[in-house]
Amino acid sequence: MKPVGIYIHVPFCRYKCPYCDFYSVTVKEELLDRYAEETVRRLSLLDGQGISADTVYFGGGTPSLLGGKRIGRIMQAIRKNVNITDDAEITVEANPANDIADFLAGCAASGINRLSLGMQSALKKELSALGRRHSPDDVLRAMETACRFGIQNISLDLMLGIPMQTAGSLEQSLQFIEQSSPAHVSAYMLKIEENTPFHRIQYALDIADEDGLADMYEMTFSRLEKAGYAQYEISNASKPGFESRHNLKYWNCDEYIGIGPSAHGFFRGRRYYFDRSLEGYLAGAEPHDDGEGGSIEEYLMLCLRLSEGLTENGIKERYGIDIPKAMRDCASSAVMSPYCLCDGKGIRLTRKGMLISNAVICRLTKLL
Ligand code: SF4
Repeated sequence: MKPVGIYIHVPFCRYKCPYCDFYSVTVKEELLDRYAEETVRRLSLLDGQGISADTVYFGGGTPSLLGGKRIGRIMQAIRKNVNITDDAEITVEANPANDIADFLAGCAASGINRLSLGMQSALKKELSALGRRHSPDDVLRAMETACRFGIQNISLDLMLGIPMQTAGSLEQSLQFIEQSSPAHVSAYMLKIEENTPFHRIQYALDIADEDGLADMYEMTFSRLEKAGYAQYEISNASKPGFESRHNLKYWNCDEYIGIGPSAHGFFRGRRYYFDRSLEGYLAGAEPHDDGEGGSIEEYLMLCLRLSEGLTENGIKERYGIDIPKAMRDCASSAVMSPYCLCDGKGIRLTRKGMLISNAVICRLTKLL
């Protein structure tokens, strides 16, 4: 069986950021212990199934709140029940606001080799507009600490469309990235999610208009490119060889086992998800089946997010067909030319197309 990915959702935060819709609850020591125990128990159910994994990802929430010992225990349980390949990419997300030295020591000792830091901006006033409690110096400190423990593969999150952000202030964040030189950058637009405090005050937020956001997006990826990062997905760029192998599994429609409240998974052909409920998870609630995964429509919607796009080789290898002619014709039409490129290799989005990716991808997938 092909190696899968493993995703562990850690549903704790010290406080809730006003724009965030990820599932998390306020951290409590006793809940951390029960969560770690229950996760170890669920991992033990994978024993004897011959599963091997070449990526592991701890996301959240704030995985760094688990501390060094608990992350070590969960990693031990993963290794006990799943064959983790020697070259596996093992990532943890961390909040630079927390003191993460003990956590990173535990991570390094248990073989975690990649760190994703929620930097968001290198300007204090933008961080405070987002309700974030870390400073740019905290980000540098976290990067230095990680490197000291031998974790050099570091990704920084950068947010576009922050209240009060301008091209000039974004330039400063990009300079910060260039100087600190992480291996990977995720640059994504702030999305106003329903049921968040930002949603309630959205009209009062001073956010750039659509054209302004498009310019910021273009500026971000052009600058990153000049600094040696290649954009390989709508929101992601990396130095050569440092693409997120775990996230590539999602976009390549490959399988992964998700564990944790609100986690999704795709395993043995089925998609599933856990409820957004820590209590349910701790009480042993089973995930819900979400139907068959890996259809050609799903594959197309995911792989068109990648800079490589939909390739003739990829679709042939997976579904035994060529890219349908109607889809090629549409992608090569004059009206679509600013948004797509179509050649012998396949179909891919231009940067302009990436900005309106949902509309372009929807139009193409209708032609299947
Ligand atoms: S943005 Fe991160 S730290 Fe803030 S509430 Fe969401 S998961 Fe927690």
